[in-house]
Amino acid sequence: MAQPDSKKIFFENLSGAGKAIAVLTSGGDAQGMNAAVRAVVRMGLYVGAKVYFIHEGYQGMVDGGENIREASWESVSSMLQVGGTVIGSARCKEFRTHEGRLKAAHNLVQHGITNLCVIGGDGSLTGANLFREEWSGLLGELVEQGLIEADAVQKYSALHIVGMVGSIDNDFCGTDMTIGTDSALHRIIEVVDAIMTTAQSHQRTFVLEVMGRHCGYLALVSALACGADWVLIPEMPPEDGWEDKMCQKLSATRSRGTRLNIIIVAEGAIDRHGKPITSSIVKDLVVKCLGFDTRVTILGHVQRGGTPSAFDRILASRMGVEAVLALLETTANTPACVVSLCGNQSVRLPLMECVQMTQEVQKAMDEKRFEEAVKLRGRSFENNLKTYKLLAHRKPESELPTSNFNVAVLNVGAPAAGMNAAVRSAVRVGISEGHKMFAVSDGFEGFYKGQIKEIKWADVGGWTGQGGSLLGTKRTLPAKHVDKIAEQMRKHNINALLVIGGFETCDRIKQSASGTKRRVFIIETMGGYCGYLASVGGLAAGADAAYIYEEPFDIRDLQANVEHLTEKMKTSIQRGLVLRNENCNENYTTDFIYQLYTEEGKGVFDCRKNVLGHMQQGGAPSPFDRNFGTKISAKAMQWISKKLVETFRQDEGRVFANTEDSCCLLGMRRRALVFQPVVQLKEDTDFVHRIPKEQWWLKLRPLMKILAKYKTSYDVSDSGQLEHVVRIRPKESDASVAM
Ligand code: ADP
Repeated sequence: MAQPDSKKIFFENLSGAGKAIAVLTSGGDAQGMNAAVRAVVRMGLYVGAKVYFIHEGYQGMVDGGENIREASWESVSSMLQVGGTVIGSARCKEFRTHEGRLKAAHNLVQHGITNLCVIGGDGSLTGANLFREEWSGLLGELVEQGLIEADAVQKYSALHIVGMVGSIDNDFCGTDMTIGTDSALHRIIEVVDAIMTTAQSHQRTFVLEVMGRHCGYLALVSALACGADWVLIPEMPPEDGWEDKMCQKLSATRSRGTRLNIIIVAEGAIDRHGKPITSSIVKDLVVKCLGFDTRVTILGHVQRGGTPSAFDRILASRMGVEAVLALLETTANTPACVVSLCGNQSVRLPLMECVQMTQEVQKAMDEKRFEEAVKLRGRSFENNLKTYKLLAHRKPESELPTSNFNVAVLNVGAPAAGMNAAVRSAVRVGISEGHKMFAVSDGFEGFYKGQIKEIKWADVGGWTGQGGSLLGTKRTLPAKHVDKIAEQMRKHNINALLVIGGFETCDRIKQSASGTKRRVFIIETMGGYCGYLASVGGLAAGADAAYIYEEPFDIRDLQANVEHLTEKMKTSIQRGLVLRNENCNENYTTDFIYQLYTEEGKGVFDCRKNVLGHMQQGGAPSPFDRNFGTKISAKAMQWISKKLVETFRQDEGRVFANTEDSCCLLGMRRRALVFQPVVQLKEDTDFVHRIPKEQWWLKLRPLMKILAKYKTSYDVSDSGQLEHVVRIRPKESDASVAM
């Protein structure tokens, strides 16, 4: 069999030969910055450019000397999993001055650097943009002062800049997530989970202060992810009289038997008059009004610490690669850009527009235009706030509408972290919309057996953080028992059904394969035929190969990888990681690969294998899964409510579910959450292998290979966005043509 097309090289004028790219981290550090630096260095080298580190942020650029050092492939090894920034970051007063920037320009020209990749917050990016605008003027001055030759002005005429936002606060307009935010959320949620176990035994109220002097993202999303009772953020200060309201709410939950209350306060929380609301003010209030045992926890720098999450590593790796491509494509006339994330896509946006938008938010807050501040933060922020309000604040029964509709919720398929958050959200949103909510246990099996009963608001309290499926889930398919299920639906008068689950779903993959010498780890991941976990896990862990069903491989690929690993062991990096999806190939089993590598690696490296198995489905859900489960489910429930009203025929007293969109799947497609009629999805699905025929993440695969030093391929599409030539396993007919 010939090598699949997807492994060919596609390069159109995108050579970095003769170019010098420098990378620096600036402002506050954030987890994932290292992954971004690594990606810039390796992608830069891959395209044939020279790459330089600038240590200590702008300070290093101003000071020059040892701070500017050429980077090699090996110099970024083993840094993917390290928190903070290895190349150092600093605040630099001098760079704010013309003199400082002049020195910086001089240092760059001496190394022939005209491409700069800045990883930092809006301050750092503003500085970068200013530097770019002044560049030719600065060179002129350097010539006048006799510090550089006159022809250098021509030679280094333009400075190209690309920004990546590294900030744990997620305070930058234009990107859904900044590098570091997800890891910070992990730290916060770990603390909340820990607190929850101790506080349950004591009846306590916890006031948790999280970072965010100007941005309430961390506070808001942590509140969503742990189902906090109250949250205070700068963008949306509470109405006057909030003190009484908050205390009423706390005392109401206590009287319903809740033993633990959590209040989350953003560092920069204020009231409607701009007066700070600190965690100690909140504590004193609770103690004075309610006499509750109340403790304050201020998280501080813990939030910046620890290893970066898988999400941050992948985000940063993708952004780093995209940043290099952006630099190669930049001309003197294109404005400086920032690479960012929109939905599941990486995009390039004009840097200054994003910075200005971000500053607008602050201005709106300063001028007490709070509604606008929330809007300016972006769609996702607004949606978080809406969802939080919807789920945390239970209206008294008397104020709830009555819809007369009954809606049932059930889990199907394998248990996945985040399922419980989704059920909680569906139940609470459903109740808020006036429906009577029913829970089905044990999936369709429980359904046909009649395991269905009403579920109330308080029944799902504390569900967000729990792993597995509290309702119980089974893989049983409904088809066999459709009649009995229909009977149950009639019996309980169910008007709509929300099914949470699906084909293979699981969220966790843990790797610990560092530190050992000359060893190759072969890890088998779950996912049925779906290679997502192996591929994306591979990217997050810096793997050398990830074998999956969707990208066929043969003995030559295995051989190439063994050779690659043998070569690699000769360098200073003496560790290999190979992922293999459980169903990638029926003959090249994990044992086979392990034995092949062991034999071929004799005398060079030894192998260890590990089948991750069910631990991938276990454990507490990550903040991302909690929130994704919560938000997607709230959206689904609202959609169901709308459809119920639309399709209800007053005269017949019945809901009509006979159109294509009566049965939809809600999911992320490119940049948006969309409802897709299942009938239509049938055509896009490979039912035998339980995977979609087209998988968006396949385009991430070459990234892993490039970052692991393979000669692999990229296709850069017209839009400038990175597109891998995605080739799904050929259909029978295609295959016969190929052979
Ligand atoms: P962040 O990048 O995280 O927002 P800062 O605002 O502290 O952090 O900015 C980091 C560094 O970027 C500053 O110490 C300074 O060197 C540089 N910088 C910030 N704003 C500007 C500006 N307007 N002009 C020039 N340099 C700036």
